[in-house]
Amino acid sequence: MNKHGLLSRREFVIAGGVTAATVLSGCATNPVTGQSQLMLVSEQQEVEIDQEAAPHQFSADYGAMQNPAMNAYVDEVGKRIAVLSQRPQMPYSFRALNAVHVNAYTFPAGSAGVTRGILLAMEDESELAALLGHEVGHVNYRHMASRQSKAMMTQLALLAVVGAVEATNKKYTTLAVGLGSLGSGLLLANYSRQDERQADESGQAYLVKGGYHPDGMVHLMERLVALNTSKPSMLEVMFSSHPMSTERYDTAVRRSATDYAAFQNQKTNRERYMDMTASIRAQKDAIVAMQNGMNALGENNVGEAERQYASALSLQPQDYTGLLTMAKIQLALKRFPQARDFANRARAVYPEEAQARQVCALSALNLRQFDAAYADFDAYDRMLPGNSVLAFYKGFTLEQMGRKKLAATEFQRYLQSNSSDDQSAYAVNRLTAWGYIKPPAPTPAKTPMPTPPAAQPIKKKKNTV
Ligand SMILES: [Zn+2]
Repeated sequence: MNKHGLLSRREFVIAGGVTAATVLSGCATNPVTGQSQLMLVSEQQEVEIDQEAAPHQFSADYGAMQNPAMNAYVDEVGKRIAVLSQRPQMPYSFRALNAVHVNAYTFPAGSAGVTRGILLAMEDESELAALLGHEVGHVNYRHMASRQSKAMMTQLALLAVVGAVEATNKKYTTLAVGLGSLGSGLLLANYSRQDERQADESGQAYLVKGGYHPDGMVHLMERLVALNTSKPSMLEVMFSSHPMSTERYDTAVRRSATDYAAFQNQKTNRERYMDMTASIRAQKDAIVAMQNGMNALGENNVGEAERQYASALSLQPQDYTGLLTMAKIQLALKRFPQARDFANRARAVYPEEAQARQVCALSALNLRQFDAAYADFDAYDRMLPGNSVLAFYKGFTLEQMGRKKLAATEFQRYLQSNSSDDQSAYAVNRLTAWGYIKPPAPTPAKTPMPTPPAAQPIKKKKNTV
């Protein structure tokens, strides 16, 4: 506020935003603390955001593993924990994802995933229960709902997907292709250290209540700390959303020895975990090669990445993540026929997973096979609706096919949700040239009105320290 006690324009904009959101949802009792707390979205909205966004992030992580027993196991352990939480009514679902980096996350209504990378790193079921308990803790504290408006949450959730498509297609007009984000780019929230403390505390409590050894949390943290020393790039994404600290480890150790001293005989289910995850450990060499390849990509060493993925595929020729990442590497190297071949193989291996369609489409687009590209963009759009960038690519492809009317429909659809980027400028240009939009009339000369100050963009608060 300024010295007159008035809000500056910027403060007014921010306060206005918060007020509008408050009217929609307002204060709610925090399910864990029992205290009243400002919630920017309602429970119903949490469910809507979750269901809209989660499928996109799971697809960016190469989908759930094609191993029903593995998914059922992760889901069973997760739900055993979730029913003990303060929000047992939420529609929790847990799955093992094909991605190879080390990560775990949840959407606000409990759609959660753990990667092959982290499943390979853990050694017993109490660690898995601790990990899933931590994620359930975030859902119970409603960390996202208390921090972000619905629009921001949806935007953040879809940004990762849109960002990947955009990065892959920077120069669509020249049909050149860059390398998109290969890991899962952005996660939903950057939790604060306080959020992490709360999720850890709840997670360890659920763990013990679920009959597991309280050290499950201690061992999980030990493993993450060790991995962070040996393979920091594998945990980058996880630690950007769940900041790690030695304090978190120390607290888990202390609680195990004090609050949970009487529970030291509870189960770890090591053998069961080893049995259930045996198929992942059987792929260990291939997973490690892919992790090395991702590391090389992070260092912009595409040649080394290609060697690592080739080695992974020689061990596991049917690996969806391996095939699809190799297709993206070939796109980056501008070897479009090879990219198409790898993407087609990925699609054949996992026809229900959408990301392969996107890479097939991009390969075809670069080969100027517009009919095939359109069919794949359209299939992708139907399998995974809600990514507005697709309308642009469909429009662009239809234009190349000479189907102006349909192209115009897609460009118009694109402009409904995007209005200020290169693609929208391109769409406006085409729609104007085809007579769908009237060119702006010349403004009559008048005394110019003073320009009002432009609204300041609200800076996104960074929650990680
Ligand atoms: Zn966390």
